[in-house]
Amino acid sequence: MSTRRRLLEAIRRAHQADAAYTAAGRARTRATKAAAAAHARMANDPQLQAGADELAASQAGLVRREQAARAKVRRTFTAARAANRALAALYAPHAPGRGTGGRRRSGVAASLLGELAETPRELILAADKIVVSTSAGKDSLVCGQRVVTLAAESGCLDKVVLVHADLGEESEWPGVRELAQRQAERWGVEFIVVQADRGLLGLVEKRKMWPDAARRLCTSTLKRDKIAPLFKQITDALGLDGQALILSALGIRAAESPARARKLPLAIDMRASTGQRMVLTWHPILELSEADVWQQIADAALEYHPVYDAVIPRLSCVFCVLAGRDVLVRAVRLCWALGLDLPTRYVALEEHIGHKFREKLSVAEIVAEAARVEAEEGPLVWARGDALRRHLGEEAAADYLRRLALALAA
Ligand code: SF4
Repeated sequence: MSTRRRLLEAIRRAHQADAAYTAAGRARTRATKAAAAAHARMANDPQLQAGADELAASQAGLVRREQAARAKVRRTFTAARAANRALAALYAPHAPGRGTGGRRRSGVAASLLGELAETPRELILAADKIVVSTSAGKDSLVCGQRVVTLAAESGCLDKVVLVHADLGEESEWPGVRELAQRQAERWGVEFIVVQADRGLLGLVEKRKMWPDAARRLCTSTLKRDKIAPLFKQITDALGLDGQALILSALGIRAAESPARARKLPLAIDMRASTGQRMVLTWHPILELSEADVWQQIADAALEYHPVYDAVIPRLSCVFCVLAGRDVLVRAVRLCWALGLDLPTRYVALEEHIGHKFREKLSVAEIVAEAARVEAEEGPLVWARGDALRRHLGEEAAADYLRRLALALAA
């Protein structure tokens, strides 16, 4: 493990040095263009030429900026070359031929991380902290259960912390945060909540536009960016002399989308990692199907959120910008069944900002369609355990409900 750790750190350094070199190159291009544009403006403007002193000062400033940018490119190039040579020297004993044996850095990283992902207990033993992000949804639930089980078997339960980004009741279904907390209590692990000021509704109000699949600011702004500072806090609290190893577990599955199918079980989080901490993003349930998830929920009698019983497939924002039309219509009907005024508030918000929820679908249209369906079918009706009935059958659902009641009473 320690050799692999050293190699991963060398990969991180080389990656960050290359990124600094690329950024310096871009800054130099910008400085050169700015100098050329200013020079052309000055040459063509008699008024500017009249103020000879000011002109000279301004040109000197631009020249200094360009020289500084060039110097930074040289420094970062030297640093990147040194970091890549250090990685090659460290990897050479493990590779045929010279340097990295002809393998690209990404290939070296993938093979090292692949080996580590296959030995999760070793990984857990080596970690200084294990952060499990939970939305309280079904995948987070099974991810948490897997991590907690492995950590308990390895005698490392005290390393686990469950982190929930609370988007608030203006964005999410009621009881999400409380459910996440009950999950942490049942597993006996630390629970941390990060608050995302007024969630999706607040974000849309502020930006006066809805996020979409191409500009999915909501996930980064409301979840990832809120959780990111925790890594520094955790590192500071650990107070280690050397670099801390933090595992960041996420309950995503390859079957959910092509983008998720391209994810690796383990990856270095280059944004969050520094010389003080190596953060490895871990996807412990990447290979599970939806059926596997429900089976594991049933097997371990894990408490899932009741919206799944009402055929809402994901415990996400009530009006998730990525959800299908049918799911959104159902979400409106579920709001009505639960007495929530969110549909009215989202329609008003859409009107207020003058930007449609989707290019070809407004919240107002979703609500109108929900009203039509409701008039034909009547209000939504569901019962506890319906999600399991649909996936595993009546008998499995009845057995689950019995065991869940016992678990909750314990
Ligand atoms: S659940 Fe949907 S709307 Fe909410 S943050 Fe995630 S992607 Fe955005």
